[in-house]
Amino acid sequence: MSDILSSCRLCPRECGADRRVKRGFCGESDKVRISRAEPHHWEEPPISGKGGAGTVFFTGCTLRCCYCQNYEISSLGKGFELSVAQLRDCFLRLMDMGAENIELVSPTQFVPQITEALDMLGNERPTVVYNSGGYEKAETIEMLKGYVDVYLPDLKYYSCELSRRYSAAADYFEKAITAIRAMQKQVGRPVYENALMKKGVIVRHLVLPHCRKDSIKLIEELREVFEPQDIVLSLMSQYTPMYKAAEFKELGRRVSSFEYESVLAAVEKAGFDGFFQERSSAEEDYVPEFFDKKYY
Ligand code: SF4
Repeated sequence: MSDILSSCRLCPRECGADRRVKRGFCGESDKVRISRAEPHHWEEPPISGKGGAGTVFFTGCTLRCCYCQNYEISSLGKGFELSVAQLRDCFLRLMDMGAENIELVSPTQFVPQITEALDMLGNERPTVVYNSGGYEKAETIEMLKGYVDVYLPDLKYYSCELSRRYSAAADYFEKAITAIRAMQKQVGRPVYENALMKKGVIVRHLVLPHCRKDSIKLIEELREVFEPQDIVLSLMSQYTPMYKAAEFKELGRRVSSFEYESVLAAVEKAGFDGFFQERSSAEEDYVPEFFDKKYY
């Protein structure tokens, strides 16, 4: 593990930081940090189930989304340190609490430590869900083979201009679509058991104000890469101007019904199955409480 972290190239930033002595672009050193680990009932139904998803929110992020709902942990670094053994205990605690799975949220920068903690679980390993911003390297996804069952990546933008402007990642689509292809190849088409997803890929797309044409192009491109049965799509409407969104005038409002429904029509035309949020769900209270000290 120290080999990987001494010149880190886990994400497309490839910043090469020696994380034993300094933090990378993602804001993280070689010490695992999380900011919350609790069952969460507001994910897509086959992820949350009855017991809730066993979410573990990791601190830091490889993206810089100006509208990030979780900016306290992704950009401001709120969180607390855990050893790898404590991370294993944190997974066990969620399983004891009746969570349906372990859902790793924003985990990219800690993949080596996460696989080590999952190894410590041995045969007790539950379904593992990997929830990321989609800005990934196919090589890092390969490291997760046999560890992750369900991938839950975002696919945020098609346009380089938008991804550079809002997330500081001009190569976002190119990297994300390559990674999602690797994810789907690894875990295959969706498999359900008792209405819970046990294998598969759910691609999330958050519709942004003034960006419906980009969203439609993204759906069309996704259809070029995947057959409708290969993946599930989750089209999200909950955009709320937060964090640095105020610096971009065009992001200062919620998404209109027209915008959301025109993207929804593109999803239906492409034939993807999935989850579609009610617009009334666009509320700030989707953001859970985060902690800067171990609280459990
Ligand atoms: S995970 Fe962090 S340290 Fe590693 S390459 Fe990406 S930004 Fe740099």
